[in-house]
Amino acid sequence: MHTTHHIGTVSVTRVTEQCGPGFAPDVLFPDWDPAMLAAHRDLMIPDCYNVAEGRFIASIHSWVIRTRHHTILVDSCAGNHKNRPALPRFHQLDTPFLARLAEAGVRPEEVDFVLCTHLHVDHVGWNTRLHDGRWVPTFPNATYVFSRAERDQWMGPAGRDGFNAGVFADSVLPVIEAGQTRFVEDLGSIGDAVQFHPTPGHSVGHTAIELNVGDAVGLFSGDIMHQPLQVMRPDWNSRFCEDAERARASRRWLLDNASERRATVFTSHFAASSAGKVTRTAAGFRWTFL
Ligand SMILES: [Zn+2]
Repeated sequence: MHTTHHIGTVSVTRVTEQCGPGFAPDVLFPDWDPAMLAAHRDLMIPDCYNVAEGRFIASIHSWVIRTRHHTILVDSCAGNHKNRPALPRFHQLDTPFLARLAEAGVRPEEVDFVLCTHLHVDHVGWNTRLHDGRWVPTFPNATYVFSRAERDQWMGPAGRDGFNAGVFADSVLPVIEAGQTRFVEDLGSIGDAVQFHPTPGHSVGHTAIELNVGDAVGLFSGDIMHQPLQVMRPDWNSRFCEDAERARASRRWLLDNASERRATVFTSHFAASSAGKVTRTAAGFRWTFL
């Protein structure tokens, strides 16, 4: 369940909330072409594509970064007991996520920072938990960090209607009201190892997160990509990408940056190990799981 990687002296561990069949390809990708699956069967089957159901397999997990000084959570999954009637995969969950976090050696009070790449339903859920009928911060000593543009977007009408309805109210507003938030604009940073990069497109204030330790680089890609096939087809947006051209530009930035710097890419939704390397090929880019 827990896989750990190292970026220099810093460990990065995946803690999974759920992993299973998600969208059918032509639902997730408006530009879907089945020839891509045929060309990359070894990469996709069986871990990332369920042939019997004809659906991609998607993981929803957090990454725990442990530096010498800090314990940092990147993205916080869908959370328990959240009311998401339009989204069955996230509706009224009761997963042992906190027990899994404990198995990975992390108690909630030990988390120093929670970084959210963006404020969609599957990235902020464990920001809060239900306590005596109220939503309270799950991580009482953490500073929650995300982009100001995301906050501005979801505190408005977009946070009350549509696919992300209610998420701001139960999973973001309580941590703001608790005085536990810090907003980043453009290139924000945490200490000397962690940096935010604006990568808009999937959402208006989406950020990638970079981890630098000595010469080693980790890149947390958030929802810049949902499936490995997008490494070979960076022009493919998901149906949830709000701004098609900016989403493509952010994806190309990530792939260029990851390949040139030989970064380990920590994805938000790839199944298998969820982490890998991007290498440049004559035709574009290739993905290799670590
Ligand atoms: Zn997502």
